[in-house]
Amino acid sequence: MREQLKALLELQNADAKVREIEKIIAGLPSKLDPVRRDLDKLEALLGAERAKLKDTETWRKDHLSAIERENDHLKNAKNKLSASKNGKEFNAANREVDHKRKSITDREAELKKISEAAVNSAAQLEARSKDVEALREQLLGNQAALVEETANMQEKLAAAVVARDAARNGVEPSWRKTYDALSAKRGYAVAPVVKGTCQGCHMALPPQLNNILARLESIETCPRCSRLVYRQEFVDAPAAVAPTDAAPTA
Ligand SMILES: [Zn+2]
Repeated sequence: MREQLKALLELQNADAKVREIEKIIAGLPSKLDPVRRDLDKLEALLGAERAKLKDTETWRKDHLSAIERENDHLKNAKNKLSASKNGKEFNAANREVDHKRKSITDREAELKKISEAAVNSAAQLEARSKDVEALREQLLGNQAALVEETANMQEKLAAAVVARDAARNGVEPSWRKTYDALSAKRGYAVAPVVKGTCQGCHMALPPQLNNILARLESIETCPRCSRLVYRQEFVDAPAAVAPTDAAPTA
């Protein structure tokens, strides 16, 4: 019985180890999420800034053509001014020349402002491009590290599965059946009893059951959680120790 209990505990440990490694492996891909999220954000910003800069460039070209047209109009107005035959025509042409000049000056000032802003935007864009590039490289490096880490963990998992299978073979089929049913229902099947309390569900065991466990002869079942319960001394004590030598603690 003692050997079966040891085998059951070994199986429980081996199962826990396999589950732990599987959980780590399942969580590995999400390790890249923060860098990916940052990269997505930066790329979106970069895209928006590029689009804005393109719009500005279009606006600048339109504005330059408009200034060219205004210069033509100014030339016409000046021609009219020099061809004016009387004071009325002269005044009208003069007003037109002034008007065109002001319009051109205004447009040129605006163009200058926008052009300067565009130079700044282009510099920012350049800096952000570099950030994105650095982040992309970081992600690639992280991906390579993750592939390696995953391969490592897969190796550990394979070893843990071999150990688990060996542990399963060490348990008698009837106990294995009980163990599997309890594991599926309760998460784990075997729980120690400490000071008369089942460590699986933290219920104080009935005194009779505790007395039976104190004899260190059998594996019993917890009335509340149905887990297989045992005294730690049952595992630790040498097989030859007589039950009377193991002082009950509860
Ligand atoms: Zn219990």
